[in-house]
Amino acid sequence: MTEDRRSWDLQVERSHAVEKVAADLGLLGAGRHFFCPGCQPDGTGTPELVIKGGDFQCFRCGAQGDVVGLVKLAKNCDLDAAIAWLARETEDPQGTGPGM
Ligand SMILES: [Zn+2]
Repeated sequence: MTEDRRSWDLQVERSHAVEKVAADLGLLGAGRHFFCPGCQPDGTGTPELVIKGGDFQCFRCGAQGDVVGLVKLAKNCDLDAAIAWLARETEDPQGTGPGM
């Protein structure tokens, strides 16, 4: 019971995290649709990048992945730099985060 509840909480937290990260990255869009930093960097046309369930997918260029992949795409950086950025952005001052 408690395990189920815990994993559900983590899942919700994770899917909210990717939306928060999209906002922190400065991605523009409407609802769950965002302009893809890979193929729509100028933010014109219809936003083709969709965020759902903690992952993202661009229906235009086919880019997809998790929250780390979104940071890599938006900042055009490597994996280490993306994780470092996420660690800074999601830092929990109370130290009660889920950890790794
Ligand atoms: Zn794209």
